Amino acid sequence: MAKKKSIGNMLVQDIIEDIIPANFGMMPTFDDILDYTIKERKSVVKNSDNNTKSGKRKILKPSAWTCKYTNIRGSKFSFKSRPYQHQIINDMHPNQVIKKAAQLGISQIMLTKLFWFGDYSIGGPSAKIIYTFPTYSDMLTYSAARIPPIINESADMTPAMYGWLEEYAEENMTYILSMMEVNSAKLKKIRDTFLFLKGTMGDNSAISVDSDWNIHDEINFSNPSILNKFKSRLGASKLGWEYNFSTPTIPAYGVSKLFNKSDQHFWYIKCPHCNHSYKLDFDRNLKDFSKERAKKEQRKYFYQCHYCGNEITDETRAKGFYISEQPSIKDLRGYHIDKMISPIISADDLMDSKEGYTKKSDFYNFDLGIDYSEKTTSISLDILEPLHQTCGVYEMWSTAKPEHLATMGVDQGDTLWVEISVTDDKTGKRKVVYAEKIDYTDFEDEDPFQRLPDLMERYNVWVCVIDALPNKNNSRGFKNMYLKDKRVFMAYYTSTKDGDINVNEDDGVVNIDRTETFKWVFNRIYSGDIGIPSNADIMELWKEHMCNLKKETIEDESTGAVKEFFERTGADHFNHAHLYDEVAYQILTDVLKKNKTDSVDGIVSKVNNHWALRKGFIMRNGVYAPQSNPNNINRGGYGSRVGGVSTIPSSIRRGR
Ligand SMILES: [Zn+2]
Repeated sequence: MAKKKSIGNMLVQDIIEDIIPANFGMMPTFDDILDYTIKERKSVVKNSDNNTKSGKRKILKPSAWTCKYTNIRGSKFSFKSRPYQHQIINDMHPNQVIKKAAQLGISQIMLTKLFWFGDYSIGGPSAKIIYTFPTYSDMLTYSAARIPPIINESADMTPAMYGWLEEYAEENMTYILSMMEVNSAKLKKIRDTFLFLKGTMGDNSAISVDSDWNIHDEINFSNPSILNKFKSRLGASKLGWEYNFSTPTIPAYGVSKLFNKSDQHFWYIKCPHCNHSYKLDFDRNLKDFSKERAKKEQRKYFYQCHYCGNEITDETRAKGFYISEQPSIKDLRGYHIDKMISPIISADDLMDSKEGYTKKSDFYNFDLGIDYSEKTTSISLDILEPLHQTCGVYEMWSTAKPEHLATMGVDQGDTLWVEISVTDDKTGKRKVVYAEKIDYTDFEDEDPFQRLPDLMERYNVWVCVIDALPNKNNSRGFKNMYLKDKRVFMAYYTSTKDGDINVNEDDGVVNIDRTETFKWVFNRIYSGDIGIPSNADIMELWKEHMCNLKKETIEDESTGAVKEFFERTGADHFNHAHLYDEVAYQILTDVLKKNKTDSVDGIVSKVNNHWALRKGFIMRNGVYAPQSNPNNINRGGYGSRVGGVSTIPSSIRRGR
């Protein structure tokens, strides 16, 4: 039985049960909510517009509220130059996904909408909103740069407008500022509504509150397992609103996967010459003028109706409208928006922008808001080459400190394939700092596993994930050496129900959904979220392996269900080592999160003391220092090292 919350004289559950039926077949319209709020909720509203007589407050739609109370770049907000935002901001569907191009103002209207929500206490007293950004630093950027203008540059409070509110009739007091009861970087209170701002990576502060509304910004660049945890916070809410939006990256991942399950609203235009309605297609509708015409027009490109050949003007684009292409779907509202629907972006602007990208995929993702379909089923060298620049140019590392948060992935057979990565100081991204092919012929007793403890030590590896098979006894032996500290996990590929990564900490086992996890790993590569070192021969082999895995799809003839899987087209060992390394970092961030503190400092400051001590590191003045004898670790039956740390098999000397 849910706890009863009261709004005015009514219980919130009565309202919601009335207006949001158990199945989403009939979603409440804005007017439905409005009726209730106007009739029943006067007592929670503290403020009052001047155009009401009876003391009841007139409730504006989000779009009207935004125009009335907010400014944008010094002028009153208007939807004229962004008509496609109007329906989105007023949409009251509880589950929404927006697959979008960049810079179309979606974050802006979402932020505005939550101030609207707070102004009228739509969620009732003490309603809670969680707004997530990919990383902690993204969150701080938004909090410092995007939200203050909404609050501070909004419409001023004037005694003429709000005569009875004399205490607010100061200079520079804006209407929205007058609503703010708490206004810190991570937490805001807007009248009765709490807003929590969170990063999905590098943010270890606790979130233990239930939520009424989750807004997830740029989900394709966010940590999926953390997003899932936030979803579980909605369970107790009667509202349970969830909005996801992002620029897409690869097909069937993140926002694209969600959008495919939605009712898929697209922006249609109607040609005023031939009356055909359709959505603009970049290849089909964007055309160039002849040379003479371009000179006369002072522009090179235009949109052309493919039915009648006439030009589609900016005005026609502005007069577009949304059409759902999957109207039978009721439980998820989806919008797709790209730069072609923005009347203030001309065909010339779009082509200029296209030429400005060095990565072809960026134009598709950021301008057209679509997945990059040409090379999305596999990785190619032109996707990998830019990774040398992701974290600046650097060479392989020969050692790493605990604060670098090193993780290791190992693919096994007769030969072991190892990758070690760390967190880059400047970008906060993960970067590969070491790769090695460990050949059994390099060891007298032909046991390449004995090299792994050396690497664990040299790079201060926090978490290692090793392929469990085929040499299960060896991987188990290695894992058991570190079982007490939970530093090594044996990996099995499975098909998990939720496509997730399931970690059994006590047994040191991790079950990985092969297809879903490779999609996630590939997405991070496409998005340039990984750095790789330069001047290392072994990385040429690494890149070769990365290109040897291809996504295939088969359709089940009877059910029509599409099944995806990755198939190898050549040696792909480093591909698996890389995936294990990425999973190891997921495990590490989860552990760091679990052992969070409220400190807002870097991730290292929140490293679990318990771990640190067990691992043999002590904290001195806030810095982890290795114990006095780092060689004194249990070899777990692997015998002594072959000549100590300096023994590096020939296979990696080639790579250095
Ligand atoms: Zn036409």
